[in-house]
Amino acid sequence: MLDLLATAAGGFDVETATRAYLDTLQGPARAQSDAYFEGGYWLILWGALASILADWLLLRFRLAAAFRNIGERVSKRRWAVTGITALLYSIVAPILLLPWTIYTEFFREQQYSLMSQNFSTWAGEQLVGLAIELIIAPLLIIAIYALIRRAPKSWWLWATGVIGVFMLVGMVLAPVFVSPLFNTYEEMEQGPLRDRIEAVAAKYDIPAEHIYVFDQSKQHKRISANVSGLGPTIRISLNDNLLERTSEEEILAVMGHEMGHYKLDHVWWIVGIYLAIFGTGLFTISRVAPRLIARHGQKWDVRDITDPASLPVLTILFSAWMLVMTPATNSLVRWAESEADAFGLDAAQEPDGFAKVAMRLSEYRKIEPGLVEEMLFFDHPSGATRVRMAMQWKADNVTDPQVVIPEEGYLDAE
Ligand SMILES: [Zn+2]
Repeated sequence: MLDLLATAAGGFDVETATRAYLDTLQGPARAQSDAYFEGGYWLILWGALASILADWLLLRFRLAAAFRNIGERVSKRRWAVTGITALLYSIVAPILLLPWTIYTEFFREQQYSLMSQNFSTWAGEQLVGLAIELIIAPLLIIAIYALIRRAPKSWWLWATGVIGVFMLVGMVLAPVFVSPLFNTYEEMEQGPLRDRIEAVAAKYDIPAEHIYVFDQSKQHKRISANVSGLGPTIRISLNDNLLERTSEEEILAVMGHEMGHYKLDHVWWIVGIYLAIFGTGLFTISRVAPRLIARHGQKWDVRDITDPASLPVLTILFSAWMLVMTPATNSLVRWAESEADAFGLDAAQEPDGFAKVAMRLSEYRKIEPGLVEEMLFFDHPSGATRVRMAMQWKADNVTDPQVVIPEEGYLDAE
């Protein structure tokens, strides 16, 4: 698969070795990768604006108030009124956003040949996702409004705690109850590759009696692996694209990275990051929303912040907050990812496998962004950063390292 270029003794230069990889992505392939990912920057902005617009329409045409009125006709209990309002909101808001969702998540993916589903299968999966949301969102919203009524000043803090509980329970249950609704998970086959993965895991006391492979090729052609679950359900899974489209050294490099997430307790790290961002966001909302409602509530038929018809006000502010926080969220997550990269290089000892797989991710991630661009928009280190880290690792840890020039066309090899 790889051509080894013998270089002069002691001639391993990290920058040259990095360039050898980066230069394998040129011309139209690089342009397409850049266009796909850079387009995504705008999608973050337009996506937030689209959902703010949808929420504003619900206020402007007093639909949120109408949902609440239906709730009040059905029940006198405040939690039930909130639940019905939330349920109707959770059905109608996605309908308003449907054109946006179809464009960004189906047509755009298809345009860039990243999608392997037809429209009806894709839509079917969206409906399954919506059904799950229709169970969870009303429960969460009932809890948050109960807190708003009981603790008008400090509800944001309690609500952050409740969201934390929802996240943790969701993470424990997701691999067992949610993921199987979309994909089939099977134990990875026994054999030399699995033995090598287990040997790496054993070195770090990582339990590896279960390694799952799932059939994500039916959804898209991206290579991917993840750590999911929590406590008794935590596991490492890899998708069939990774298993079938890449070499053993690449798979091992990816598994080293995932073991890093596991061993470094990144699940908790990610939960902590999100709770900090949600918590500060809810605090801001708790201070701003009452003022907005005092000013405009009458024309929206929203009484005050305890009124569930105020839900779109809260979600508008939340969308704006998450948009502003995008660079912070990305950077905090990218930090954890970079730690997992470093762990993975030490664990798998496959710097060239890691570099190759980092290049392959250019299918959907810009390979060589500017420094600021990477800081703002990347939730994983860029391909260039990863290849450079791998080559540095190689320089530091391999005796007599050689510059590897990947074979032409390896990036589009199926
Ligand atoms: Zn990762």
